[in-house]
Amino acid sequence: ATPMSVMVGVGKAAEAGILIRNGEALQNASKITTMILDKTGTITLGQPKVTDIYRVNSMDENQILQLVASLEIGSEHPLAEAIVESANERGLQTDKVEHFNAIAGQGVEGIVGDKRLFFGNQKLMLEQGISVNKEAQDVSLKMAGEAKTPMFFAIDGDLAAVIAVADPIKEDSISAIKRLQKNGIRVVMLTGDNQATAKAVAQKVGITDFFAEVLPDEKSQKVAELQAQGEIVGMTGDGINDAPALALANVGFAIGTGTDVAIESADITLMRGSLHGLADAISVSKATLRNIK
Ligand code: ADP
Ligand code: MG
Repeated sequence: ATPMSVMVGVGKAAEAGILIRNGEALQNASKITTMILDKTGTITLGQPKVTDIYRVNSMDENQILQLVASLEIGSEHPLAEAIVESANERGLQTDKVEHFNAIAGQGVEGIVGDKRLFFGNQKLMLEQGISVNKEAQDVSLKMAGEAKTPMFFAIDGDLAAVIAVADPIKEDSISAIKRLQKNGIRVVMLTGDNQATAKAVAQKVGITDFFAEVLPDEKSQKVAELQAQGEIVGMTGDGINDAPALALANVGFAIGTGTDVAIESADITLMRGSLHGLADAISVSKATLRNIK
């Protein structure tokens, strides 16, 4: 395409809230064969809320939340924000946490008062040698089947609670994904979340291809793998952990409400946050290439 037609295309896209950083991205968008979508904050709103607190021992919900919030106050993860917000809503005060540590892809640990706390996914419990009884296991699977993310809370080596958060799917994600699929694009979901939750969300939005429990640095590896198979890969994400994958993809799309790092690493930013921006960008790209060869 000529520089003039690219300029026109970039302008047209901008009117639709799609910011295209370079002309090359605009031309490549129509060639995408596989579109990878991050789950949290991309397909979903990225505003998880606490929905269930399953108690394992005699502690009450407020005692549990107060401790978990004290631990999570040091984390910037959206799951942590959901916990702290829920504690705030109940008017609970947090205590000081010591030796706080975030374990990538698993959760957090720290000491509050005289208690050693762990909070995160089942892998975290497994690696810490904390046993999850059958009932807690069943409860967590039920939560995950409802597309919620279950998290396990342990005090001094014993499971104390399972807490679920739900992150609503953006209302137009389903139709936006359908549009991409109708364009012949294979849509793949990538998430650090657990297998069962990922499956439930994928099912709700009509995606059959998904990869769960993907560690932050593995996201870009997935892009590379697909490229090695000959796919022209589009990647859409919002988080810090999506940045390397956004940079590596043939075309990286950032959600406008996402992190600065994601936006800086992407070629195209969807200012409106809606995934319809993807099919819109692709159709502007096609029009640009069609008009001037
Ligand atoms: P994602 O944000 O896509 O879920 P992450 O790698 O950040 O990917 O997290 C993977 C999983 O690790 C989360 O789904 C959660 O189960 C657990 N986890 C990570 N950080 C926290 C945290 N601060 N509190 C509780 N669980 C966490
Ligand atoms: Mg995300």
